[in-house]
Amino acid sequence: MSAEGKISATSAARDILRRLHDVMASKAGAQSKLNRVVDIIADGLASEVCSIYLLRDGVLELYATHGLNQSAVHVTRLAVGEGLIGTIAKIREVLNLAEAGAHPDFAYKPETGEERFHSFAGVPIIRRETAIGVVSVQHLEPRDYADVEIEALQTTAMVLAELITASGLVDDLSAERSRDLHPVRITGLKLVEGMGRGQAVFHQPRVIVEHIVAEDTEAERARVYDAFKVMREQIDNMMGQAEFAAPGDHDEILETYKMFAYDEGWSRRINEAIDSGLTAEAAIERVAMKTRSRMRATEDPFFQERLHDLDDLSNRLLRIVAGEMGTSAKRGIKQDMVLLARNLGPAELLEYDKAYLKGVVLEEGSLTAHVTIIARAMGIPLLGRVKDLRTTVIEGDPLLVDGVRGALFVRPSDPVVQQFEEQSALKEKRQAAYAKLRDLDAITTDGVRVSLLMNAGLRSDLDALDVTNADGIGLFRTEFQFLVSATLPRRERQTKLYSAVLDAAGDKPVTFRTVDIGGDKAVPYMIGEEAEENPALGWRAIRLALERGGLMKVQARALIDASANRTLRLMFPMISEPWEFDEARKVVEEQLSRTVANGKPVPKSVKFGAMLEVPALAESLDILLPKIDFLSIGTNDLTQFLFAADRANPKLAERYDWLSISLLRFLKRVVDQAKAAGRPVTICGEMGGRSLEALALLAIGVDRLSITPAAIGPIKAMVRSLALDPLKTEMNTWLGRGTDIRAALTDYAANKGIALG
Ligand code: PEP
Ligand code: MG
Repeated sequence: MSAEGKISATSAARDILRRLHDVMASKAGAQSKLNRVVDIIADGLASEVCSIYLLRDGVLELYATHGLNQSAVHVTRLAVGEGLIGTIAKIREVLNLAEAGAHPDFAYKPETGEERFHSFAGVPIIRRETAIGVVSVQHLEPRDYADVEIEALQTTAMVLAELITASGLVDDLSAERSRDLHPVRITGLKLVEGMGRGQAVFHQPRVIVEHIVAEDTEAERARVYDAFKVMREQIDNMMGQAEFAAPGDHDEILETYKMFAYDEGWSRRINEAIDSGLTAEAAIERVAMKTRSRMRATEDPFFQERLHDLDDLSNRLLRIVAGEMGTSAKRGIKQDMVLLARNLGPAELLEYDKAYLKGVVLEEGSLTAHVTIIARAMGIPLLGRVKDLRTTVIEGDPLLVDGVRGALFVRPSDPVVQQFEEQSALKEKRQAAYAKLRDLDAITTDGVRVSLLMNAGLRSDLDALDVTNADGIGLFRTEFQFLVSATLPRRERQTKLYSAVLDAAGDKPVTFRTVDIGGDKAVPYMIGEEAEENPALGWRAIRLALERGGLMKVQARALIDASANRTLRLMFPMISEPWEFDEARKVVEEQLSRTVANGKPVPKSVKFGAMLEVPALAESLDILLPKIDFLSIGTNDLTQFLFAADRANPKLAERYDWLSISLLRFLKRVVDQAKAAGRPVTICGEMGGRSLEALALLAIGVDRLSITPAAIGPIKAMVRSLALDPLKTEMNTWLGRGTDIRAALTDYAANKGIALG
């Protein structure tokens, strides 16, 4: 369009909006306002017909028209999904047709006299993401309506939504009934098993745009300008800290965010919408509407993803402009809910009240990302890689998370709910059966005693020790306390937590792991000065702790004080070379000497362990083993390094198998060597909590597993149903031959009646 054309289109749109504003501000009743609106639109768009249909009792009723027979008003009614009007309401999309009669959904309503009109354009009137009506124009001559005309209609629809809300023309119940309420099942990747039911809550709620027409266009322009500035700053900051923020293909997303944030075209379109008289919020929303409809229309997945990013960003911009930056965690919702997000950091998840959080659904997500580990520890079913959440789910929708089959049921039908309840009951029954095993040992049928320890990190995890009767805590992730704090936890707070853990454990051993920050564990106050290219391979865990000596000393003191007169077991994460263990141990021993020098009580004994998570360490075990009291294998990190596959990258989430020959051969070598040196080995990664994987670990000689509390029952049941010796022989053969272990082990377990839960 020429510059001149654009100016006249903008001024026409502004003129329409000004006239609509006058109507809205007038004291007339709702019906007479609607009558005037249709006249304004017909006149403004030089259209022969303009009609407004609104929902009444779940049906779209003609409320006002310019150009159709007036006798059809309040007579012509269409069901949602019926005819062009009903289709628009159903799909919540614009229709722009040169020849209306040629559309397959066209339904002729004789009382309106509309047969003379060829062209048709209609847009949905949307409130709270629900279509509550349709505004349409019709023309005698066949013609496509231009973009600016459609935009003018969309603006009108927004104004009408405001009018309708204010006048109560459509009640919520009617809107509710009209919605395309059919149930939807979306599949995803099950990251934490379990079943959950609750209302849909978006982590970042959409802003509801209430005011459409601007009082002062220049002021609105300034608001958008400022919001863009803030958003660009936020994105630049996020890019600087990408390694500590949400994980995965995050960098790629941030790059796209950045591209859009600085995209002149986007800000120009918003500014044009403001020129036409909209408020900043309404302008952003109107431009976003277009993005969303393009998103639905395109088939190209790459383009769809990019539009999705732009939609995310529009939402962010809207939230900045509206001053609504908080997440749903701040809303303090006191109803069972299922949390929906593109991705979440571990600390963000912990902000929600566990009592009401029944499930989490992410568009990204991966099995060993820390948000997943925390959800697992909290016993909250988690689905990842679920597509199109924003377009399928509306805030408040009833949801069922089926973390057993990996599906999300949106607005589930009665039979699905019933089935869900039956399954939940079954699960409870199974849980009760596991509870019966509580006081029995995890011992194989051929007499091998397996130590089942639990992983923990939150104070709230401690109850699980009694519930599961685990043999102790094999991995206490001390950094969780750091993750949930806004500032570095002071020594007293650390001591208090560690004492509480030891008190809860009583005589059972607890292995504390010193802080493991970095990678996908974001701690804002510990972020390095420079962004890292490869955070998982970067300045994290023991590397960071040794350099920030103060941090390590404070933690060592807290651990020593909390363990006064008891046994302190501690281990260091991500040891790559034996000297790193030596240095870490030295820091603790110095603190021990100081404590003694200060005349304070010290632990009865201190046991030092190292975590094997970096493959290189396996090549220097002969040097390391004599120095340590125990070894703990962190298979989450180990697999990521062994396979060179980012554990938090959703695209790689299913690529490599824990039962791969390479990993099992590797683990077996390490386990054999450690045992030969008389050093106990524990597996503390997520792998050990899965029945088949745990079975494989036992078969290669592992006899200590530290796992998520919910897995203790099922793994104990598996152990108690197993004759280990013959399986070990089989496993040796399979490893030697390079057999497909998953297939062989699954068959073996089925044949031998091994309980895999
Ligand atoms: C591991 O890497 O396997 C592990 C147990 O530690 P984290 O998952 O906390 O990195
Ligand atoms: Mg690790």
